[in-house]
Amino acid sequence: MTYRAPVRDIAFSLRHAAGFDRLSDAFPDADADTVQAVLEGASALAGNILAPLNRKGDLVGANLENGVVRAAPGFGEAYRQFAQGGWNGLAADPEHGGQGLPKSLEIGVFEMFQAANMAFGLCPMLTLGAIEALAHHGSDRQKALYLPKLVSGEWTGTMNLTEPQAGSDLAAITTLATPDGDGWTLSGQKIFITWGDHDVADNIVHLIIARTPDAPPGVKGISLFLAPKVLVGEDGSLGAANALRPGGLEHKLGIHASPTCVMLFEGAKAELVGQLGSGLAHMFTMMNAARLQVGTQGVAIAERAYQQALAFSLERRQGRSAWTGENAARLFDHPDVRRTLMLMKARIEAARGVCLSTAVAADLATHGATEAERVAAKLREELLTPIAKAWSTDIGVEVASQGVQIHGGMGFVEETGAAQHYRDARIAPIYEGTNGIQAIDLIGRKLGLGEGQAIGDLMDDIRDTIDALNAAGDPAFGTLAKRLETGLDAASAATAWLIERRARAMPDALSGATAYLKLLGDVVGGWMLAKGGLAASAAIAAGEGDAGWLSTRLALARIYAESVLAQVPGQVAGVMIGAADLEATTPEMLGA
Ligand SMILES: Cc1cc2nc3c(=O)[nH]c(=O)nc-3n(C[C@H](O)[C@H](O)[C@H](O)COP(=O)(O)OP(=O)(O)OC[C@H]3O[C@@H](n4cnc5c(N)ncnc54)[C@H](O)[C@@H]3O)c2cc1C
Repeated sequence: MTYRAPVRDIAFSLRHAAGFDRLSDAFPDADADTVQAVLEGASALAGNILAPLNRKGDLVGANLENGVVRAAPGFGEAYRQFAQGGWNGLAADPEHGGQGLPKSLEIGVFEMFQAANMAFGLCPMLTLGAIEALAHHGSDRQKALYLPKLVSGEWTGTMNLTEPQAGSDLAAITTLATPDGDGWTLSGQKIFITWGDHDVADNIVHLIIARTPDAPPGVKGISLFLAPKVLVGEDGSLGAANALRPGGLEHKLGIHASPTCVMLFEGAKAELVGQLGSGLAHMFTMMNAARLQVGTQGVAIAERAYQQALAFSLERRQGRSAWTGENAARLFDHPDVRRTLMLMKARIEAARGVCLSTAVAADLATHGATEAERVAAKLREELLTPIAKAWSTDIGVEVASQGVQIHGGMGFVEETGAAQHYRDARIAPIYEGTNGIQAIDLIGRKLGLGEGQAIGDLMDDIRDTIDALNAAGDPAFGTLAKRLETGLDAASAATAWLIERRARAMPDALSGATAYLKLLGDVVGGWMLAKGGLAASAAIAAGEGDAGWLSTRLALARIYAESVLAQVPGQVAGVMIGAADLEATTPEMLGA
């Protein structure tokens, strides 16, 4: 089973759910034709080069041989084609060799790469994060020396945060950077470093958080450093190997072809990036972008699993169809299977819309025409980022699980590949800040953003869409407006309760964090489908476009309204569960 990139779905979502047209003044080159050409070019690379390597990558994986990581078969050549295509530099600054296109287009493109081959996609994804961090915080010299090579893809980047005792709590890191002439020397161990070592590019630019000798405890004592695998001369030439190496490779549930390394820094030469003591803040520049990319992995893996399940449902024959009366009917012709497939697709569209909207907000936050537009967009980006990350990756796991289910027993055995998607999907809710940490970020920091303006503006915008649905009055919307409105009312009630509890009983608020993120995600996802539905309805009325394809957008919005939005009011109680019972519960009561 190969992967066929959903170019039309992505282009539609970008335009109608995410509001890509708002970028037309800031990015005059990103017109409809360019967007289409870029998406089609990426689709060819994804479908023809990356997707066929996915299975082999899972079976063989990356390997550590004589202290060096060897990428999975075919990955080196695929990486060369990826770099030659200029895909790393799509949204990078032209000053560093990039094409200066919107980040939101890059997110659309990377959905295809991640769907085709998630283990491969992680390598450039981390490089994009390194580019982002250096572009914001690097010195002019660092930018000139490292950015062109990272943007061209000649070198790759990594993000070294985690240590055995410091996962979610990065304040606990102990890796030490000591001054050494005009540079620094790094000593310590990092774990779980994605593409920490490999043989697909000439050099690896490691970004590392570490403490300095007299730094204060906690996050204020953390600084950001850069240490290349191979030392780089002032003219950009490659010199001797740096004193760092992969100490081991993790054996994982999924993404076998993405080398997850223990990294040992054994007196490695390093340079400071940005301000001393601001390392975590600087790293957050990289992490916000990476969180959105990981959310997009959720969409991507869900799409891949969905395509495979759909194809299987058209081949496998079982039982009598209640519709056609046919014996040995296709799985597709059983109502329960078709409902599952439609709901899978509806949730993918919803999550895609959320991720692309977050990306458009990120573009507007830096390129909006006015200060007010930039500030409002920044609030929207910050508010939506934990939802894009956590809600979309949970959908990735759920949809991949449904993909296995549609395959029946053939989903549980490895030969169909459905199981690989489920295994691969499982990491996305864990890395880049676990989904639990995202939920805490949402209620702890994001609800208070702009003194409540961020969440208030979001709710106002959703209400505008409900008004537009009511004004348009197309019977094809079904109960969408009503369901979105009751969902929004439920979100308002849950938000008001959380804001009140946050101020005086934080454990109560924290107890409902994950339930709230899901509730708000379900509503924002419904809003995305509603915006797509409005555009589809208008196009059908105007006799434009492919009516069959457009009516599918409306059918997806209807099934989402009845299956997902209809359940939202019932989720409020789960948000307001309160901490009393939880606090009173001991390990012994739970059987420890
Ligand atoms: C395949 C893979 C690739 C990775 N790639 C990288 C990489 O490239 N670079 C890098 O630096 N790291 C990487 N990581 C590490 C990853 O980011 C961490 O695993 C993640 O941040 C969670 O940390 P932890 O595993 O220590 O879990 P813990 O922090 O121990 O968390 C365990 C559980 O407790 C919950 N929890 C923790 N603290 C709290 C709290 N305060 N309140 C409520 N709940 C809490 C979490 O939500 C989670 O469910 C990778 C990990 C894996 C498995």
